[in-house]
Amino acid sequence: MKKKITAIFLILISLAAFFCSCKNNKDNEAVEAFKEEEITSDNVTVTEPTTIGEDSKILYLTFDDGPGLYTQHLLATLAKYNVKVTFFVTNFRPDCQFLLAREEKEGHTVAVHSYTHEYSDIYRSTSAFWEDYNKMDENVLKYTGHHAEIMRFPGGSSNTISASYCEGIMTALTQQMNEKGISYIDWDVDSYDAGGASSSDEVFENLKSGVSGRKSSVILCHDVKSYTVEAMERFIPWALEEGFIFLPCTKDSEPAHHSVNN
Ligand SMILES: [Zn+2]
Repeated sequence: MKKKITAIFLILISLAAFFCSCKNNKDNEAVEAFKEEEITSDNVTVTEPTTIGEDSKILYLTFDDGPGLYTQHLLATLAKYNVKVTFFVTNFRPDCQFLLAREEKEGHTVAVHSYTHEYSDIYRSTSAFWEDYNKMDENVLKYTGHHAEIMRFPGGSSNTISASYCEGIMTALTQQMNEKGISYIDWDVDSYDAGGASSSDEVFENLKSGVSGRKSSVILCHDVKSYTVEAMERFIPWALEEGFIFLPCTKDSEPAHHSVNN
């Protein structure tokens, strides 16, 4: 009798251990799946590569000043529609720099904007500018594994604010960019999210009217603005429906260049 009770007891313990290990495996699988989804967004349907024809209407969506608090939300939206964009990044949020790795991994272009974005500092001399540029490029290298090949000047290459700090500096810097083989990219459609537009409705309307009738647009947006990130939920499906093709900027993209005024 005692032996029988011991045998039943042992069987019960083995069964409990078996079910427990199954549950742990399931939990581990769930955690792995979550991590994977968070990093690669590979739950998204990947469409065939788009063929660019003569009649294609191209949109280069660009986001300046991030990564920030809304960048992850934006990345999820971009992944949902399988749209690739360009991020001109800063070090405004050191705690968000890890997102550069995710931007790169998900097929977007990571490009330098500025480390401090402080006009009075970066435009006081060409050496001050390059010191700031190189610091941001180090962040890009650290998180993406390569140097940035393209950049956007704070205020654009046409800015005149730099003249208050150093006469002729934009002429010198644009020339130095060319010499170093770094493409600088301005924009030709503005969401006005850094002034003028302060709601997702306004950003959406500005983008719709801005790109309409154009064959190719480089669009200026900021992923540090919550309403801009929100507006993408409507703008991207609208543009896809209208037949626009989204592309990330590369070294070979036709750059939108402003005229240099300083
Ligand atoms: Zn900026």
